Amino acid sequence: MTIKEIYEKFESVGVLTASTIHEGEVHSRIMHFNGWDDDGIYLRTMSNKPYGRQLKEGEKITVCGIDDNRVLGHNEDGVPDFPRGFFIRLIGEVKYLDEAAVREKAKTNEAMKLAVYDIEHYPMMAEGNFVIHKGRGEIYDHDFGLTTRDHKLLRNRFAFGGATFNKVGPTITDKCIECGLCLKNCTFKAIKEGTPYSVIPERCDDCGTCIANCPVDAIELSKPL
Ligand code: SF4
Ligand code: SF4
Repeated sequence: MTIKEIYEKFESVGVLTASTIHEGEVHSRIMHFNGWDDDGIYLRTMSNKPYGRQLKEGEKITVCGIDDNRVLGHNEDGVPDFPRGFFIRLIGEVKYLDEAAVREKAKTNEAMKLAVYDIEHYPMMAEGNFVIHKGRGEIYDHDFGLTTRDHKLLRNRFAFGGATFNKVGPTITDKCIECGLCLKNCTFKAIKEGTPYSVIPERCDDCGTCIANCPVDAIELSKPL
């Protein structure tokens, strides 16, 4: 995916959560992005706020959102009521942008004109502009009711700015004796036959049912994003 496509996917969600680290704790808050270009995805806040200070000091951020704000739960028959939609998340590296850089970008970037407006109305915005210049993430498209396809998940990982990502899900090793128990028990249709059997990453929920059912411990745990 391009930076533009990633940005637009986040924009379609709108309200996001962003997390930074402060003294070994994770701090989260509600936010939204403020534009993009080939250098990355932009965000801003007042530089006096803990959020702004943590971005400047830590240069790391994690952002996530869901495209549907209905409460996820069970319907009156006790069946999971999980509307079709997607989650999106991003782990990024952040760089501070000084006022001169923001004003320069605003000459050609409409979204950055609003950043200049904010600088001129809120003085603490002058040092509160940042760009996520490198990142990796995932779109977790779910259709648990199978309304649009015959499998529940379609997971699409992406990276930009030189970042890379690990594949989704566990790995079936050569210890596999091809008994078929993992395939039989995977409700996500995320395993295919072969020598050895293998996981289809895009469909896998990393639920671990295959690991629990494998009689010869042939399946290795997944790696983080
Ligand atoms: S972790 Fe779950 S979803 Fe993924 S292949 Fe195993 S059983 Fe299927
Ligand atoms: S359950 Fe284990 S041994 Fe059986 S097919 Fe799956 S990976 Fe291979």
